[in-house]
Amino acid sequence: MARYTGPVCRLCRRETRKLFLKGERCEGPKCAINKRNYPPGQHGGGRRGRTKVSPYARQLREKQKAKRIYGVLEKQFLLYFKIADRYRGVTGTNLLQLLESRLDNMVFRLGFAPSHSAARQLIAHGHVTVSDRKVDIPSFRVKVGQEISLKPKMREHAMVKTSLDKSERDGRLSWLEFSGEAMSGKMLSIPSRQEIPIELDEQLIVELYSK
Ligand code: SF4
Repeated sequence: MARYTGPVCRLCRRETRKLFLKGERCEGPKCAINKRNYPPGQHGGGRRGRTKVSPYARQLREKQKAKRIYGVLEKQFLLYFKIADRYRGVTGTNLLQLLESRLDNMVFRLGFAPSHSAARQLIAHGHVTVSDRKVDIPSFRVKVGQEISLKPKMREHAMVKTSLDKSERDGRLSWLEFSGEAMSGKMLSIPSRQEIPIELDEQLIVELYSK
């Protein structure tokens, strides 16, 4: 499973906005965006005042943002785009729906983990089951109605408990069902674009890949 292993906050700084990649830390005063909200690197500070951004740069940044939020690398992201393009409907929305149905995203959205990377770790270590079968592939595509559960061993884990508390406070998404007793949840329907809680102009990604 290929994944990005470099400094995580740097990814947010490059986009000059919070991507919430580190869970609890992102809400606190230690968030790098609070301290240095300009692109990293020797010339990063110099880019702060730059106003003219080319259309290509805007498209590229939007794609990078999406990849970073969902923790997907270029090759896999392109594959998602190709699948989304083959489906009926709006390609950008199809793309986000595909990304939302990844198992690591579902584990994060259900509140079992504070971030996508923590969700990926739970899955890779074999703590997650889908329809009562262990699945250790973070990119596994979850279908509507499939039950996602956490193995009993992890249910009392401090990280899981804190994350579930936060998710309870924030409120769960309408297209998800969660049972605290069984520590499981499922997707009730494919979310519409309005129901996907990410700020992104996916049309720019479509334009980038359609060149
Ligand atoms: Fe991004 Fe979170 Fe780091 Fe802040 S703390 S820069 S939101 S990953």
